[in-house]
Amino acid sequence: MALRVQKYGGSSVGSVERVTAVADRVAAAREQGDDIVVVVSAMGSTTDELISLSRQVTPNPDPRELDTLLSTGELVTSTLLAMALRERNHPAVSLSGLQAGIRTDSDFTRARITEVEPHRALDEISRGNIVIVAGFQGTTDAMETTTLGRGGSDTTAVALAAALRPEACEIFTDVDGIYTADPRLVPNARPLVDISYEEMLEMASEGARVMHHRAVELAWVYDVPIHVSSTFTYGRGTRIHGGPLMEIRNKVRGIAHETDVARVTVRRVPDQPGIAADLFSPLADAGISVDIIVQNVGEDGHSDVSFTVANGDVEATLEHVRTVATTFKAGEVTADRQLAKVSVVGAGLQNSPGYAARTFQALSGAGINIEMITTAEISITCVVRESAVEEATRALHSAFDLEETDG
Ligand code: ASP
Ligand code: MG
Repeated sequence: MALRVQKYGGSSVGSVERVTAVADRVAAAREQGDDIVVVVSAMGSTTDELISLSRQVTPNPDPRELDTLLSTGELVTSTLLAMALRERNHPAVSLSGLQAGIRTDSDFTRARITEVEPHRALDEISRGNIVIVAGFQGTTDAMETTTLGRGGSDTTAVALAAALRPEACEIFTDVDGIYTADPRLVPNARPLVDISYEEMLEMASEGARVMHHRAVELAWVYDVPIHVSSTFTYGRGTRIHGGPLMEIRNKVRGIAHETDVARVTVRRVPDQPGIAADLFSPLADAGISVDIIVQNVGEDGHSDVSFTVANGDVEATLEHVRTVATTFKAGEVTADRQLAKVSVVGAGLQNSPGYAARTFQALSGAGINIEMITTAEISITCVVRESAVEEATRALHSAFDLEETDG
């Protein structure tokens, strides 16, 4: 008898009908004789609705209260699913994050899991129960309820899998695995058979939304293979793991894109030691994450500095940067919100010259102007106009032959 850890995302449990359909799936797995732990997200857009409720009361919800409020979304799903399973004559019990032993730090709204104490889950399994865990939530040492940041149920599932060691952590979602590119942009994108932890982490960090990047990071650290597949079909899905990859013919694994990109430019920054530190330290202190940074070659003792942040951080960034810019008498500070980035990702890019050139050729062939470029070990990223991101993604997908099946 094997132990299985399954996670069902928000759209998979978006209505009562879908919750009961998930109950059928879980029951079927149970009837094969396996022990099952299920992690669930809140139903559909429940979390957004709870956030919106809090905003109708105050523009600045207290983080502690907000986390307790948000944690209720997952409790609705876990309790309903347990009831639906009992209705099918399968003993089942729902557990909150607290009861499931998900311990976190006290960073409300984006808490990190510090430890998983799976005793209660194991007890319930030994009593013959299917265990349904409310995802996205945990408890601090002081018994405060926390949430793990948007999309955090994936992280709950991987953390439980790291503690319980099933053969793989099964993530059920609304798409049939990890695609070579977003199929909404690239019609001939295809689901990958497998992808490495490192590549998946890079894809997720560069904008692929299927898996939460923190969950992938955790899976990599604890070597928990993840199997991503659709709740609605019985497709093959994608395995994320650390072993050798089947599809080694193509050094490029996929194209990721992100449209939540804005560029802030500071003109005529004095070219002297310490300026970059002065510019970026206040942003780090404010928790604003800066992605791509480009500094022009200096002229007459000055240079222009450009960097990207998420659109939602632009106002705060401008405020901080303008303050610093005034103190060192820099020029104008401007922001451009109509940008996007597109990334070519693949472990095979390491030590393979020529891929950057092919990337730029493909974009120029499509008449797309590159606004910024950055490369990392296993990725090449170009910032382009947001209006060009769809075409850029398609051009790169075809330039690297990603539509070809591995059949
Ligand atoms: N319900 C939470 C969210 O919408 C967590 C999750 O779905 O993973 O972000
Ligand atoms: Mg999700």
